[in-house]
Amino acid sequence: MRNILELTCPELEEAVQAMGHQSFRARQLWQWLWRKGVREFSAMTNLARDFREQLMREWALDWPEVHEVQTSSDGTVKLLLRLADGALVETVLIPDKERYTQCLSCQIGCPMGCTFCSTGLMGFSRNMTGGEIAAQVLVARDYLRAHGLGDEVKNLVYMGMGEPLTNWDEVRRSLQILSNAEGLEFSRRRITLSTCAIKGKMDVFGIEGLALPAISLHAPTQEIRESLMPGAARWPIEELIAALQGMELKARERVTIEYILIKGVNDSLQHARQLVRLLSHLKCKINLIAYNPGPGIEYAAPAPGDVLAFEELLRKKGFTVTLRKSKGQDIAAACGQLKTEAQGRMNSTTSKEGPNDGTA
Ligand code: SF4
Repeated sequence: MRNILELTCPELEEAVQAMGHQSFRARQLWQWLWRKGVREFSAMTNLARDFREQLMREWALDWPEVHEVQTSSDGTVKLLLRLADGALVETVLIPDKERYTQCLSCQIGCPMGCTFCSTGLMGFSRNMTGGEIAAQVLVARDYLRAHGLGDEVKNLVYMGMGEPLTNWDEVRRSLQILSNAEGLEFSRRRITLSTCAIKGKMDVFGIEGLALPAISLHAPTQEIRESLMPGAARWPIEELIAALQGMELKARERVTIEYILIKGVNDSLQHARQLVRLLSHLKCKINLIAYNPGPGIEYAAPAPGDVLAFEELLRKKGFTVTLRKSKGQDIAAACGQLKTEAQGRMNSTTSKEGPNDGTA
C-alpha cells in the first residue's frame, strides 16, 4: 500500500475526492498528518468512522522508525532512522536556546564523493522520496515532545546525507509538503538548502523560491576543490562563481558560502587571500566551519588560532563572516558518521549478511 505521507496537499485533495469525499476532508486529514503529527488513522477523531476505515484499507501511514539515538553534552541530538525498506539515514537536531535547527538528509549515501565526508565514502544507494525527507521533521518533533525538550523545530537545513540538487524532484516535493500553510508551515526564510552546486540546476533557487541557497564551496581554488570535492569540481570554480553572481535573489538576500576549514588543506592565510579574490564580486556571506574529523578519514581539525586568523582576514576585507561552532563533537555528529558506525556494528553482529541498504 502506498504511504499517504508521499502525497503533496493538492494530491491528497485529489485522492480524497477519488475516494468519494469532499475536499475539505482532505484539509482535515492533512492537518492530522502534518500539523498534529498523528500516526494512526484511527486517532483522527473529527473524520467519520467510515472514512477512517476506508483510509486504513487503502493507505499506509508509515513514519521512519528511530533506530538509534546519540545525544551530545551540548544538547545536539542525532537520530539514525530506519526507512520502510530498511535503509538507514541520519537527521540531526541542533539546539539554539529553546529551539532546534534540524539537519535533513535527502539521499541514502551520496553520489558526489567528497573526500572529507563519511557519507561521500559510502557511495550512493538511492534517492529518498519527498515523503521520507519531510517525515524526518515529524519524527524529530515527536522525539523532542516525548523527551520533554519542547517541540519546536524552528529552522531546517538540507545539509545531511545527500546532494539535494541531484534529487531535485523529490526534494521539491518535500519542500512543498513542509511549507504548506495547513501543516508544518516552514517559510522560505526558515529553510536553507545546502548544495555543492550542480551546473544547469542552480536556477531552482530563483524560480521556485522554496528555500535559501547555501553553497558548499570549501576551497579557494579549482585544484583544492578537485581534491576535496571531485564530483562537484567537474563544474570549474570560476564558472560556478560567475553563475552565482547571476543568481536571482530577493532584496537583501545574499548567497551563503559554506567553507569547512581543514588543517593544512585550505586553512592558511594564503588560502584566505585566494578566497577573498575569488569572492570579491559576489554578494555573499561566508559561513566558516571547523572540520569535525570522522573515522577512517585522513583530514584533521584546524588549529583554533588558524581559524581565528582566517576569519579575521575575511572580516578585514569587508566580508560578513560567521564562525559556526561545531556542535556534537562528542557524538558522531558530522554527516554520515553515525550511520557508518551503526552499519559497522550491525555487520560485525549479523554474520555474513550485508548491509540492508546496499551501502557497504
Ligand atoms: S559533503 Fe554533501 S555532497 Fe559531499 S559527499 Fe557529503 S553529503 Fe555528499
